[in-house]
Amino acid sequence: MHKVVLIAGDGIGPEVTQAAVAVIGAAGVAIEWESYQAGEAALKEHGVPLPPDLLEVIRRNRVALKGPITTPIAEGFQSVNVALRKELDLYANFRPVRSLPGVPARYSDIDLVVIRENTEDLYSGIEHVVVPGVVESLKIITERASTRIARFAFSHARAEGRRKVTAVHKANIMKLSDGLFLECARRVAAQHPEIEYHEMIVDNACMQLVLNPWQFDVLLLENLYGDIISDIAAGLVGGLGLVPGANIGDSCALFETVHGSAPGIAGKNIANPTAMILASVLMLKYIGEGEAASRIERALKSVYSEGKMLTRDLGGSATTSEFTRAVIAGLKSERV
Ligand code: NAD
Repeated sequence: MHKVVLIAGDGIGPEVTQAAVAVIGAAGVAIEWESYQAGEAALKEHGVPLPPDLLEVIRRNRVALKGPITTPIAEGFQSVNVALRKELDLYANFRPVRSLPGVPARYSDIDLVVIRENTEDLYSGIEHVVVPGVVESLKIITERASTRIARFAFSHARAEGRRKVTAVHKANIMKLSDGLFLECARRVAAQHPEIEYHEMIVDNACMQLVLNPWQFDVLLLENLYGDIISDIAAGLVGGLGLVPGANIGDSCALFETVHGSAPGIAGKNIANPTAMILASVLMLKYIGEGEAASRIERALKSVYSEGKMLTRDLGGSATTSEFTRAVIAGLKSERV
């Protein structure tokens, strides 16, 4: 029996995590879920958005599945997502972006991975008012964090038989910070001659992703560029409802979606649960349940291949629960 921490999250979080839990159950994986709140829900109930015992329980169980969490804009509490990643030292944000058969998208046959440094850069949250009207926000880049994320990217490329890593940067302008990031990436690349290494300036990378995304394989980025490029990449395959993510550290991991809490569609049973179901697939692989993960992936793909079941974000009218039931039916029919 696996023990996994479950954080339902805000907005559409409870709907999509419920879908993922139902699918995992239908795949026959025995998981004891330890449910915790974070974000707005925790603030309402406990007066803090990130209850301190949550960090402890994730450290103890080593694995968590998390729905998206709302972060107030330009005011209010600091991002719980960023705090979880930093406090638990989940330094690698890993986001596989793949076309799904039958999904109406602008591009087909996309298969790339975004690997984003998760603990520093402008997300250090160190900013202050110098004098009224002038604000300073610090971008922190360290050799340690840049080297370990580059190592993660190259190890991942080697383990998955990927051919190429592209480091994305703005070292023409931020010569010291992005320069250090590149220096570390180059050093690690030199230890992996079997994998092609390329560099691309971030603005060009945005355009290249739109013009010719097939040229990319593994993208290696600092925190902010990784965040932005992830959403561009999600757009290539049909949108945010489809792309999962993993936050991985040396001692624990937290699985979630690339998308946020989508407050505009929350509580309406219309969110696409695919990204959260795929996040569960990543989680199951991580805890050694690869066979169940593959069955869920196959069931999901066959629902899309049949072309009858699309949620609203993809131009259909299926509800979150109808889509989830179709995936579960696919899993059950595979078992008999
Ligand atoms: P968002 O990802 O929540 O939504 C962007 C757009 O995509 C919206 O139109 C939304 O309706 C749509 N969308 C997202 N997920 C969908 C799904 N599963 N099915 C169908 N449509 C979907 O981004 P936002 O509006 O910029 O952010 C909302 C909140 O989420 C903010 O508070 C933000 O800080 C937070 N956020 C959290 C995380 C996280 O928890 N990891 C990630 C990103 C944003």
